[in-house]
Amino acid sequence: MSEFYGPSLEASVPDDLTLAQFILDSSHPLRPIRPSHAPWFIEDTGGRGVGHEEIRARTYGLANGLSLRFRIKENDLVVIFSPNHIDYPVAVWATHRLGGVVSCANPANNTNELLYQLKVAHASLIITHSSSLHTALGAAQAAGLPSERVITFDESSQVSVDSLIQQGLRSEPYFVERRLQKGEAKTKVAFLSFSSGTTGKPKAVAISHFAPIVNVIQMAEHQKVNQNYAPWEEQRFRPGDVAAGALPFFHIYGMVLGIHFMTFCGLSVVVIPKFNFTEFLESIVRHHISHLLLVPPQIVLLCKHPAVKNYNLNGVRHLLSGAAPLSASLVDQLVKVLPNAQIGQGYGMTESVATIAMFSVDEKLGVPGSAGRLVHGVVAKVVKDDGTLAGFNEPGELQVKVPSVALGYLNNEQATKETFVNGWLRTGDEVVIREDHEVFVVDRLKEIMKVKGFQVAPAELEGCILEHPDVSDTCVVPISDSYSGELPMAFAVLHPNAVKRIALDPAEAERIKGSIIKHVADNKVAYKHLAGGVEFVDVIPKNPSGKLLRRVLRDRARDLVRPR
Ligand code: AMP
Repeated sequence: MSEFYGPSLEASVPDDLTLAQFILDSSHPLRPIRPSHAPWFIEDTGGRGVGHEEIRARTYGLANGLSLRFRIKENDLVVIFSPNHIDYPVAVWATHRLGGVVSCANPANNTNELLYQLKVAHASLIITHSSSLHTALGAAQAAGLPSERVITFDESSQVSVDSLIQQGLRSEPYFVERRLQKGEAKTKVAFLSFSSGTTGKPKAVAISHFAPIVNVIQMAEHQKVNQNYAPWEEQRFRPGDVAAGALPFFHIYGMVLGIHFMTFCGLSVVVIPKFNFTEFLESIVRHHISHLLLVPPQIVLLCKHPAVKNYNLNGVRHLLSGAAPLSASLVDQLVKVLPNAQIGQGYGMTESVATIAMFSVDEKLGVPGSAGRLVHGVVAKVVKDDGTLAGFNEPGELQVKVPSVALGYLNNEQATKETFVNGWLRTGDEVVIREDHEVFVVDRLKEIMKVKGFQVAPAELEGCILEHPDVSDTCVVPISDSYSGELPMAFAVLHPNAVKRIALDPAEAERIKGSIIKHVADNKVAYKHLAGGVEFVDVIPKNPSGKLLRRVLRDRARDLVRPR
């Protein structure tokens, strides 16, 4: 066996458009006509909808305002540090109209975490929200970015996006939008997204305009959105359907699928800024939401939360789970909660921008436990431990050739060379591909863990733990958790001084553990906290060249938490 092929990609893909031009200004044979009454985005609480013309106008107004007031131009970098907001896509597309690059940050990040991103990406401007403004200003100051260059989606003491839009709309055109050269969309950077890849700390992944454009088209072909021969009521995504925009837009899943794929397919996206489960149930009913794009912890709540029985969820026709594994047993439970829904998984990563596999349109229910089938245009190989290629049903590392592949890690040639190898993207995931072409993710070979669908890089936490005065060495590994998927746990080698203190007073051990946990909690965003606890060891196992034997400790952690 050599390679596995997804169906070939037949549809044309423009390579001379920015993402904004593709989604706002152009048509495509796979793109259905949206009824004029169906808004693109709907505000969850207020219910205000914005349609195509208004979005185009706001995007133009913001681009003009950003150019006029902040001189944002070709290749300048705009950081969006905000919960989901109805103008979030407008900010992305306005930056693209100016030739700029967007880098989205988790609004829960603390000052140091945001500062890291500002520095790596060389930000010119931050667009934030009053709820994250304090952190944004602190990080901006530390990065040497003037506070006037921090603006907000909502009204605050800062300049608001809306006031810039109005200014931009009132003023003479101050910028000329560039049409890209043929092929240029493949190299022009649209996003810098953060991911740790297979090893080390988070890195800036350079993503071209072409990557999300082709991925949207690959998914559209996979789902046969416009399959004229299928009866209208059997199509998976129908213009006028309503999707929940509950995935964070800063993550690649929310950006490519939540915003772009949904709007391409003609759905209206209800923009949900902060996920609160019971409010989410209310929103599903209030807005007649038919399509849910979720991560597994949200699905756990759908299956287990007592409030679910108070809501009629029969209007939900589609649920896609991604970003982390969804067990077959959860799918079994979910079928009872959402009796009318097609349910299945998608699989992908930031570096593949985004979807590599998705459950097939022919199935009402994706094969439980499967991450789906390779989407159109994807070639895969499964590489065994000994470097040879696996056949059907044999486990190995998934490597893919995808037209949507990222350009590489910014200013990090070494990591780029290790992950993007001769046209193949190393996923760091262990998979099995069955004869029926279903892809099962059976394990993760790379270091990262996924907590509630978010990446946690052990190297980042280890650096933080090593700052603790009682720790001389450490290794962070995942333990499994039925809600979050995984939780970080630390093995730590104590400083001789701390060992002596414990010898004198055994209670000191618990105090030190608590203090290490607190140190991480004080310095890192909530999902990175050591919720899996801390264990002391005499030595962190390493191979002769000093490389951490992470797997040994991962297995030990599994044994420690295994119910006896
Ligand atoms: P990110 O770049 O944050 O999207 O993380 C990508 C990683 O998430 C993948 O390499 C997988 O390890 C994991 N992942 C994404 N989707 C799935 C899925 N359906 N099943 C299992 N793991 C997944």
